[in-house]
Formats: sequence, structure tokens, C-alpha cells
Amino acid sequence: MNDLECPQCGAVRIVKNGHAHTGKQRYLCRTCGHQFTLEPVWHRISAETIALVDRLLTERISHRGICRVPGVSRSWFPLHLKALARVVPHELDRSTSTPKKA
Ligand SMILES: [Zn+2]
Repeated sequence: MNDLECPQCGAVRIVKNGHAHTGKQRYLCRTCGHQFTLEPVWHRISAETIALVDRLLTERISHRGICRVPGVSRSWFPLHLKALARVVPHELDRSTSTPKKA
């Protein structure tokens, strides 16, 4: 992990700086002294990937399989499902009417 950049000043002189209470690795910028953790993973998932995951959800693939295809983490997936359920409640269970590939 040598390609880390300080979100504050853009410097690459980053050292590990213990862990946050959530267990996430914390980093310290040696140039400006800014301390930070990496972006939560669900903020780094592109809209494209989410669209792909949503499409896979309609195909009755296992959750594990869905995560493997776009390479999203399995800790992200339940968070996405929860967010999704809030937007389209109950739609996921009745998605078999969705047409398959054209
Ligand atoms: Zn910095």
C-alpha cells in the first residue's frame, strides 16, 4: 500500500497510525500531520457496480456469488441490501417477472 495519498495535501509520505475503534487502519501524513482512515468501502463502489449488483439480485444468484462478480466486499453487500430495501421495499422478492437478458 505505497500509493496512498493524503486527502488533505496529496502527499504520499503516509505511515500507519494505529487503528480506529472500528478496527480500521488509521494513517498519518508525515508531511502535514493529517490523520485519516480510508474511505468506507461503500463510498467507493461506483454507480455502475451498484447497477450490476442490482441486476444480479434479480437473477437469484447467491449473495456470495453476487459479491464475487463485481468484486465488492461481502461486508458492503448487506449494507447495500438494507439501503435498497428502504428504497424499494419488498420488490426484491418478487423480481422474477423482470425480463432476463434481451
Ligand atoms: Zn498531508
